[in-house]
Amino acid sequence: MGEIAVNIDSVKKELPHGVKLIAVSKTKPPETILEAYKAGQKAFGENKAQELVYKHESLPKDIEWHMIGHLQTNKVKYIAPFVQLIHAVDSLKLLKAINSEAIKNHRVIDCLIQVKIAREETKYGLSFNEVIAILNSSDYAGLSNIRVTGLMGMATFTEDIDQVRKEFRELNLFFHQLKKVYFADKPYFSEISMGMSDDYPIAIEEGATMVRIGSNIFGNRIYI
Ligand SMILES: *Cc1c(COP(=O)(O)O)cnc(C)c1O
Repeated sequence: MGEIAVNIDSVKKELPHGVKLIAVSKTKPPETILEAYKAGQKAFGENKAQELVYKHESLPKDIEWHMIGHLQTNKVKYIAPFVQLIHAVDSLKLLKAINSEAIKNHRVIDCLIQVKIAREETKYGLSFNEVIAILNSSDYAGLSNIRVTGLMGMATFTEDIDQVRKEFRELNLFFHQLKKVYFADKPYFSEISMGMSDDYPIAIEEGATMVRIGSNIFGNRIYI
């Protein structure tokens, strides 16, 4: 077995039933992704629209492509025909853009709302109040071709495990509050995407349904 297959195996062994592995393949070439694919991995995450398109074109068509990074509204059209799930929706404007492109492609596109849970200053993600304002808006009510299937978050980059756990727990709590108030009759609202290579075991303990793991599978990324 190759190294990547071994890594996927050992990560998967740690995932309880119901937790899905998104293999984060950003910066990795198609040949490397193919190795993971041959080891049985079918869901991959990328954080750049162009890279997602290029890899979708060069790789088997039964791969599920997840957009996990910040998405600009003018890039939605490139991934709308095939994307499985957009993890990091952080504005109503983006949700509307996804809806328009979904209509053009005769699809319904699943989205997660990115919530800011980290203590550190991060560029992306919405506050709890901002999420609620979107869900209450009439604009949101009129979006026919998107489904908000859950929430996504990233914890503070810190050695302080208690802090990380607290942030994941807050996201889980918020998810359940929203489910009760806004999605009680919508069983598809069921996903919490949280946890990366360094903190996914904690995320799972705190209720993650999807973990996004890159370096533990593919090794460290080299940015040029
Ligand atoms: C890169 C990335 C990951 C994976 O990070 P690793 O530490 O390599 O596992 C997960 N989520 C997002 C949003 C990312 O950009």
